[in-house]
Amino acid sequence: MPDDLFLKIISREIPANIVYETDTIIAFDDIHPVAPVHVLIVPKEYIRTLNDIDEDHACVLGEMITAAQAIAREQGIAEDGYRLIVNCNEAGGQSVWHIHMHLMGGRRLNWPPG
Ligand code: AMP
Repeated sequence: MPDDLFLKIISREIPANIVYETDTIIAFDDIHPVAPVHVLIVPKEYIRTLNDIDEDHACVLGEMITAAQAIAREQGIAEDGYRLIVNCNEAGGQSVWHIHMHLMGGRRLNWPPG
């Protein structure tokens, strides 16, 4: 198994402010938030990047979206709006090699992001 920061958060080896958890998904506050709400939604199954997704992962991807919706409601940003981003590989801005979705909101987010 790779040396995986997010697996260490899942196993509680590294602390995080966990805001949502199911058997398959964990979500916690980003350590360097870029918005008032900035949560990382992570499948407990190790998947390195978006490029490693196949049809067997359809369920877990759906669960990540469902988690985002629930967290957005819980944190009071669902109606104003929010953004979901998955970065893939270095040019896409990925820095942690375990797939994750950023949920950001609580302020007006510029578009395009640059
Ligand atoms: P990405 O650049 O899309 O791979 O996103 C990785 C995110 O993980 C960044 O926004 C980091 O701020 C965040 N991050 C790194 N270490 C931690 C940590 N220990 N706890 C929570 N978030 C982290």
